Formats: sequence, structure tokens, C-alpha cells
Amino acid sequence: PWGEFDLTRFPEDPRDQLRAWDAADEYLLRHLKGTDGEPADLAGTVVVVGDRWGALVTALAGHRPVQITDSFLGRQATLANLARNGADADAVRLLSTRDTPPERIDVLLVRVPKSLALLEDQLHRLAPAVHAGTVVVGTGMVTEIHTSTLKLFEQILGPTRTSLAVKKARLIFCSPDPGLPRTASPWPLTYALPQDIGAISGRTVTNHAGIFCAERLDIGSRFLLQNLPRRRGPEHVVDLGCGNGVIGTAAALSNPESEVTFIDESYQAVASAEATFRANSDARAEFLAGDALSAVPAGTVDLVLNNPPFHSHRATTDATAWRMFTGARRALRPGGELWVVGNRHLGYHVKLRKLFGNCEVVAGNPKFVILRAAKRRQGGAAG
Ligand code: SAM
Repeated sequence: PWGEFDLTRFPEDPRDQLRAWDAADEYLLRHLKGTDGEPADLAGTVVVVGDRWGALVTALAGHRPVQITDSFLGRQATLANLARNGADADAVRLLSTRDTPPERIDVLLVRVPKSLALLEDQLHRLAPAVHAGTVVVGTGMVTEIHTSTLKLFEQILGPTRTSLAVKKARLIFCSPDPGLPRTASPWPLTYALPQDIGAISGRTVTNHAGIFCAERLDIGSRFLLQNLPRRRGPEHVVDLGCGNGVIGTAAALSNPESEVTFIDESYQAVASAEATFRANSDARAEFLAGDALSAVPAGTVDLVLNNPPFHSHRATTDATAWRMFTGARRALRPGGELWVVGNRHLGYHVKLRKLFGNCEVVAGNPKFVILRAAKRRQGGAAG
């Protein structure tokens, strides 16, 4: 009903046949257009939360919406999709989940995120800007919308009901009740680390809503912490895919002369890493929302520490690990090292050997391996 759009994910990959929109996006747009009744009133400030690849804001660009996202990749896809479809660069105001939201929201469209915690935190942040007349519509695939999802809308914003399912997607209609008692977000969450993980033992980590392993230390990360390289002297370390920053903070604590760059594609993660680091060190460090190492100049890094993402769609996950490893090879100076922790069955050593021409198992247990690949001083298998 909004016309046709040419949409892509980010980074673009011709082998990736995954679409940049789905039935949940379509259902919401049809509803707003009035395909199933009256068109929605889209006057005033339109806010779109959790738009995956920018399909919603691209279709709604004429209403000059505000996009709120936790994903750097999602933001890049949005920029590319706006350009592809001829929208002005300033048609959409791009905010991250950590930015201050608009003061008044007249239309709130929520693509339900995969993380219930992130939804909870976002609804708490947005509630003060929602008024009795705000049109609130959520959307998601049937498998993403649970009783707990609806309860959050109900408890934080007001009475909530759902639509019939169409093509396995469902809409959520919420009538804001400004009289509801305002409660505070339980996020961020902090916890103390165990005692058997080297320099960072017993320290406190901060976790904003929605990040990887926000409530406890991941067992793979724990294994890496127990086997971190012991190094001395000034060096540039990158905590690649930093999550709450536990790995990079440990590296900084074990070598006070190192300078760490923390990188994650999640804004919530980058903010968590910064909070974790600041609470434990006053050394210099850098915190970047970005795609793998694309923002790091070539040949400038001594050590990359990486626990690659492994939960999303398998094809995407492999592509991300590969991009992280190739990025590491480019960013490392000759002699620099990449240390990776991964599930044994993922076979990262094959990728690393292909790319670096070497790969050594530093440590292993029945479930995980820690691999080390060094950038050769002259040339290397991959040139
Ligand atoms: N280092 C943390 C730890 O050990 O607890 C988190 C590791 S978690 C397995 C992988 C992290 O990679 C996630 O925080 C995820 O957001 C991040 N990530 C996924 N894709 C990324 C990309 N393209 N660029 C940067 N980070 C990415």
C-alpha cells in the first residue's frame, strides 16, 4: 500500500538471500494505511523503535519519523535504503537506544525486539513522552510475541490487545494510560565476576538491557579470561564484539600500559563496556559502535581479542566471524595476534589457517578452544 521499495541489509552480501523486511513490517504498514479499516492518524512526531533494516522508516519517510535502534548495522542499512529509494538524507532522525528520546511522541511504532529486556528498557525510557492520544502499535512475528511481551506494554504504557495473525505476524494495539504509576527500568544490571578469572576476578560489570549474557558471565568468555595472554609494555588492544567489555577490561587490568579499543555493533553493548571499564580503570580507552574492525586503520593493532557472535542465523553468523577475522588481519601490525574463543564444533581454526597461514590451539576443554593466529611479518598465506 505504500508503494514498492528496494531494500537491502547491511553489510550487503550478494550471497545473502535474506530479505530486509518481513510479514511483520508489511502488516504494520498495511494497518497504518487503513487496508483493514480507517487509516491511522500519523500527525505529529512519529517514532519507530527496533526497525530491523530500515524498511519501516523508508516507507514512512514522508512523515519524517525518528528511528530508535540498538544496531549500528541496522542504522547503516537504513541510510543505504533511504538513499536507494530517493529519500532525503535528513528525512529520518536517527537515534540510538542510548540517546535521549524525543520529549513528546504522537505515534509510537514498535517492531518487537528479540530481547524482552530491551523492550522493557525502551518502553520505560519512552513512557514519559507518550500521552493519552499517542497512537501505539507494535508488530512482530507470532513467534516473537509472548504473554510477557504484551504484559510489558500493559504495565508500562496501558491496556493492550493483539490482532489476528496474518502471514504469521501479529500487531499489538496499546491505549496509553498516563495515570499508570510510573516505575523505573530495572536496567542496567550489575553483577560481580567470579574469583578464578585472573586480573578481573571479583570486579563488577555493567550490563545495559539486551546485550549478550547480561545476567551472568558467558562460559566461553570465562574460558578466555582464564587463558588471556600475559603481555607487558605499551600496546594497542582491540576487544572485538565487546559486549559488556569484560574481556578488554581484563586485558587493561593485566597490562596497565595497554590501550584498549572496545567495538560492538550494539549501542547498548558499547555503553555497557564503557561503564564496566570506567568503574575499574582510569586508563585511556576508546569505545566505538561499528561493524567489526572497519573503523580501525590498517596495521595499528597489536592484539585482537574476540568471542565472535554465534546465536543469529547460521549463514549470517559465519559471515560475521569471517568479517571479524579478515578485519583483524588487516588491522593488526605485522607480528600482531588475534585470539579467538569459540565452540569447538564451529571450526574457526580452518578459517584462521586459511587467512593467516597459521593457527595454534592455546587452550581447550571439551566444549571450547582458544585459538591464536599471528599476522606474519612478511606476507602470509593470504598475501
Ligand atoms: N565479548 C563479550 C563477551 O565475551 O561477553 C561479548 C561476546 S558476544 C559472543 C559477541 C558480540 O559481538 C555481541 O556483543 C554482538 O553484539 C557483537 N557483534 C555482532 N556482530 C558484530 C559486528 N558486525 N561488529 C561488531 N560487533 C558485532
